[in-house]
Amino acid sequence: MPDCIVVGGGIIGLLTARQLFLEGVDVLLLEKGPLGGESSWAGGGVISPLYPWDYDDAVNVLAERSKQIYPSLTKALLAETGKDSELINSGLFTVIDDDAVQREAIVSWAKDWSVDARYVDDEKRIHEIESTVGDVVDKGIWMPDILQIRNPKLVIALKASFEHLAIPYHEHCAVEEILHDENKITGVRTKQKNYSTGNVIIASGAWSAKFSVTQSSVNISPVKGQMIMYKGEPDLVKRIVLSKGHYIIPRKDGRILAGSTLEKIGFDKSVSSSALKELHRAAVQLVPLLADLTVERQWAGLRPGTEKGIPYICQHDDIEGLYVHAGHFRNGIVLGAASAELMVDVVLNREPWCDTAPYTLQASH
Ligand SMILES: Cc1cc2nc3c(=O)[nH]c(=O)nc-3n(C[C@H](O)[C@H](O)[C@H](O)COP(=O)(O)OP(=O)(O)OC[C@H]3O[C@@H](n4cnc5c(N)ncnc54)[C@H](O)[C@@H]3O)c2cc1C
Repeated sequence: MPDCIVVGGGIIGLLTARQLFLEGVDVLLLEKGPLGGESSWAGGGVISPLYPWDYDDAVNVLAERSKQIYPSLTKALLAETGKDSELINSGLFTVIDDDAVQREAIVSWAKDWSVDARYVDDEKRIHEIESTVGDVVDKGIWMPDILQIRNPKLVIALKASFEHLAIPYHEHCAVEEILHDENKITGVRTKQKNYSTGNVIIASGAWSAKFSVTQSSVNISPVKGQMIMYKGEPDLVKRIVLSKGHYIIPRKDGRILAGSTLEKIGFDKSVSSSALKELHRAAVQLVPLLADLTVERQWAGLRPGTEKGIPYICQHDDIEGLYVHAGHFRNGIVLGAASAELMVDVVLNREPWCDTAPYTLQASH
């Protein structure tokens, strides 16, 4: 009988279960498909929210802490498993409107959070930063320290770490019901068998509000994101570039991702030719040479959507031993490392590393 069962093996469940295991907790992770096969695989892996200045402090607190954790975490995973998560510094150039008030607000936000963010409107300087950009990239905010991680490779490294450390997990094992007596967790029911435990963490991404215990208290719904990938050469494009919600992310091996759509149409992961056209058109505007590259792949993932993007990292109010760790929306990769640390503090009932109030069931998400 494990001390704790984690339901869901995306980035959030994987990081939480691994951290609990390292703290000495007898943990078991159950995943309905393959580990990391949903949103955590589909995402872009930018280690910063897009337009971070528009987010609540509750998101930025986690993002800034994660930025500190990822270099050592990926180093540890590499040493442990030989698997490289490809954490690289690409920097992020965000095109903004010519609005002095907005510019001032961004610069002031950056100062408050000690983030290096500089306004640039000089064409020559912009082309020094990224030589391939088109005319639409004429002014914006340059953040030279922004990292990216190749999230599918992070998932592979985490899975290898589970093998290396012998952290118990089962793939293709969907939790159908969370079992409890009046006010205390007793276990979970899967198709295969029942598991007894005193603690359950729901880390089921977009599916987290589907359990009867969460339906009335957790407000998470799927938001589909489609992405396309070009086959390029290494260093053809070097920087992450963002304009009007569309971005390109150059990977280490020359692949270039272009994302993404935001579609609230339920649990549907199909891809569309209209999204392909939209993403390609926007990507070519940002970096015209993409017009000559082949689109190698198109996919979709379901983000665990919350209105403000503030995740739940909390204990359930009424059922002892039940925890919710979900709702990271567009930022589950960047927030994940810090969020897992906080979840572990809550589960172990010790002084949390930051204020937990914004992440409770009662807080506004
Ligand atoms: C196109 C796109 C681009 C993105 N770009 C970025 C980015 O650049 N940076 C960033 O930080 N974030 C990004 N994201 C968001 C990020 O991918 C998500 O926030 C993050 O992956 C959420 O992780 P998760 O573990 O909560 O969810 P998931 O990865 O979806 O994992 C949840 C897991 O729970 C499992 N599960 C569900 N129900 C059950 C059950 N009943 N029993 C057992 N298992 C169950 C699912 O199979 C799944 O594997 C992007 C997302 C998309 C789609």
